[in-house]
Order: sequence, then C-alpha cells, then structure tokens
Amino acid sequence: MDINEDVTYSRTAPTAPRPRALATEAVHAGRDDLAALGLHAPPIDLSTTYPSADSRAEAARIDAFAADGVLDDGPPVYGRLGNPTVARFETALARLEGTDSAVAFASGMAALTAVLLVRLSAGLRHVVAVRPLYGCSDHLLTAGALGSEVTWVDPAGIADAVRADTGLVMVESPANPTLAEVDLRAVAHACGSVPLLVDNTFATPVLQRPVESGARLVLHSATKYLGGHGDVLGGVVACDEMFARELRKVRFATGGVLHPLAGYLLLRGLSTLPVRVRAASASAAELARRLAGDPRVTRVHYPRIGGAMVAFEVAGDPHAVTAAVELVTPAVSLGSVDSLIQHPASISHRIVAADDRRAAGVSDRLLRLSVGLEDVEDLWADLDRALDASASGRPSAVSGARSARTAAATPPVSYRAGR
Ligand SMILES: *Cc1c(COP(=O)(O)O)cnc(C)c1O
Repeated sequence: MDINEDVTYSRTAPTAPRPRALATEAVHAGRDDLAALGLHAPPIDLSTTYPSADSRAEAARIDAFAADGVLDDGPPVYGRLGNPTVARFETALARLEGTDSAVAFASGMAALTAVLLVRLSAGLRHVVAVRPLYGCSDHLLTAGALGSEVTWVDPAGIADAVRADTGLVMVESPANPTLAEVDLRAVAHACGSVPLLVDNTFATPVLQRPVESGARLVLHSATKYLGGHGDVLGGVVACDEMFARELRKVRFATGGVLHPLAGYLLLRGLSTLPVRVRAASASAAELARRLAGDPRVTRVHYPRIGGAMVAFEVAGDPHAVTAAVELVTPAVSLGSVDSLIQHPASISHRIVAADDRRAAGVSDRLLRLSVGLEDVEDLWADLDRALDASASGRPSAVSGARSARTAAATPPVSYRAGR
C-alpha cells in the first residue's frame, strides 16, 4: 500500500480532491484495499516467515532493504522486516498525524530506543531534552544506557544547548505527568536543523498534530490512547519516509517489533480514537473545573489544548486518594476507556531521582488522573469520597448530598476539541 497516495473520496467529483477529515481517516485509513480483497475487517497475518522459492530474487530484495530500509512489493521474507497487519496500523497513524510514514514498535520505549539508535549510528550522541518527560524516557536519557548524553534545558534554553553532535531535541506536550505544555512552533524554530521529537501520547492527533508546528518525529506510546482499552502494548513513530527507512533498519537489526495481533488491535483502536478522546476530554474538563474549586485540592493542572488527563495536588494525603477510589482504578498507565489514577512520585516517575523530579514540577502531592468514558457524575462521586479520605486521613462514607449539589450547579461542559 502506498502511504503517499492521494487522500480523497471524491471519485466522481470534477473539482479538486477534498482531504478527508480526521474522523473519516480514523475509520478508513489503512483499509483502502479491503473492498477489492472482498473483505470488511482487516486480515491478521500471523506468519513469522514467507516462502522464498527464488533465492536470488530474495537476495536482491534483502540487499535493497539493508541499503534503503524498504522492501519492494511482495511478502516480507521474515516477520522482523515487516508485517502486513502492522503496516495497516502504520499507514493509518501516519494519515492521522499528517506524515509520510510511521514505524511501529513493541512499546513506546522500544520506539524511543530506535530513534536514539538511528541518531547514535550517525555519530550524533547528544540529546537536548525538556523536563518533565515520562519517567522511563527521562531514565533512558539520564542513564545514557545506549551511549547517548543528555542536556536538560527549559524550552528557552534549547538553541544554546545545541552542539555539533546534537542529534535530537525531545519534548512532551502536554507532558507526563504535570501536563505542562511547550510552544511547539517556538521549540521547532529553536532546534534549527536538529530533528525535534514530540511525544504526542497525551494529546493524540485528535488534539494536536506536531508536524504542523515543525516537529520531524512524533512518538506515541500506542499502549495509551491509540489502543485505548488497556489491553495492548505498542509504540510508534510518525515521520518523513527518509527517517522511517532508518527506523525500519534499526527495528530489523534490534527486533523490537510489534506483534500482528497488537497491530490489529491498534488499528481498531484508531477507529474510535476521535470519539473516545473528545468524550473523555469533556468529562476531564468538567472534573478539572470542579477540582479547581475544591478546598481539598491545592492545585489543578489541565492543558490549554484540553485532553482527557487531569493532574492535581491535594492538601491532604495523596496515598489516601489512591487507596479510597472504588470506581476509578488505582493503576499506572492511561488512555483506557476506564479511568485510572496514580501517584507519579511513587509509580510512573519513581525511577527519576527525587530532586530532578521535584525540580520538574512533579510534587509529592501530585496525582495523575486518566479520565475514561464513565458518566462524569459517577466519577465525581468517587473522587469526592476519595478526597474526603485524603483530608481526614481515613475513608469516609459516600457524600451523596454533596455530589448532587455540586452537579446541580454545573454549567454545560465546554472544551476545545481541536480538529
Ligand atoms: C507510557 C509512556 C511512554 C512509554 O510507553 P510504553 O508503551 O509503556 O513503553 C512514553 N511516553 C509517554 C508520554 C508515556 O505516557
């Protein structure tokens, strides 16, 4: 499938092709050939290997892949070079992010590892990065386990930190876990010719398409919103075809491939991504509004671009909140149809040194809430009870009267849905 092919429905229209909207792409991209195949659901190809009767021809194809990172038409030879089901997910995600290509990996961390290895193998070992990042991304860069060296800066310090051997600038926006946002256009400008990688896991292409602001690489932990149901690990990098070729070569050499069943689930997840993100964002905006007016809460972080994540600091004991929730699951991760809450200083960002964590704004009182698709009043009732537990130091009875009163005073939800 050619991922550069013209993106249009208007086969009969005499006027210029009209680009499809995101909601349309979400349910059709990566499936364009299905009708011709006589199929409706995408096929799952579980092959690890493919017949190679003509060894001479295969030798030429493998040489071409080793040189260019592209296999010509025909079966993938071996599952580590590529997989047709995974390729459908890659095609669809590239369309949603507005890039030429996308390359999928076994997890978000495998995707980041591959990006770093591409730059390291070009002799560019220096990374400039802005905190906070997801805890393990911070750890991978800080530890330098792959041979990279990191300089941590504020967004305003990026241009001055770039050196001759800088191969990558990395930011998250909104960032995990504080939901801090950076001005992507200004950051991209500060990078000059150094590729900017934006971790777009929290925003998703529904709320933000970083390539439109000048990013060269867009990374997702597909485990989160793209999958959307808490049942698949995956990662993906959306980028230009030139960088994608390098990523495919690294994936072939290092083996962090996405399983075809995961590719199928992620493609299916994309089809409901716009609906899920918009619905959960509406609830998150409402919860953020109620938390901001609550005396048991000292600070609320909610991004300007919106989204389904809310972070807040409590006056009392944050551990009492995760111990008291009943509807919301106290668990790390995010982006599922059901709501999750966790204490970043204990879990998602535990691996970051305490001083670095606090300097990045990750307070010991901060809780990170991933809002799912439950009814917002049910979510508020659960949070309300858990906040009482944090304030009193012990679990208290459900305060239904309080919830009902708050709900009655609630104006209609308004939130910014992006495209
Ligand atoms: C979870 C997460 C990652 C890591 O992804 P995995 O799929 O868990 O490897 C990277 N970035 C962000 C922002 C995340 O939330």
